[in-house]
Amino acid sequence: MSASSRKVLQEQGLSTFYDEPKYDGTPLHSDGRCVYLIVDERGIAKCSIEKAFEEGLTDFQKPISCHLYPVRMNENELTGFAAMNYDQWDICSEACQLGEELKMPLFRFVQQAIIRKYGQLFFEEMDKYYERYYHLEAQ
Ligand code: SF4
Repeated sequence: MSASSRKVLQEQGLSTFYDEPKYDGTPLHSDGRCVYLIVDERGIAKCSIEKAFEEGLTDFQKPISCHLYPVRMNENELTGFAAMNYDQWDICSEACQLGEELKMPLFRFVQQAIIRKYGQLFFEEMDKYYERYYHLEAQ
């Protein structure tokens, strides 16, 4: 992690409360970059939390909202309902293009995050629903 990221963490702590949308998030640099973002020797940006998790240095995974991205959750406390919506952002366009080539629906791309959030059974039900109602149409 860069010295500038460490400085932000010392100043703001491990997370920051944002008035809009009124929840805690990762601290950000003044240019909007997450402080946990690192860039490897090939210039590829990675999440330092996820890297440490994959290397077995911590059992703490990156936040579920990051894990699910580009799926965004909207949870309604009153009704108990939750909606999963695709957050379209042009920086993901190459990944979307690859997903189209591979014919991989987004929910399968974020399979591990959905299982982490809702469990294996939930994902399997979602997958069955897709196979029954959408997959055949797409062929
Ligand atoms: S995945 Fe989340 S925590 Fe990790 S660098 Fe990206 S925004 Fe930050």
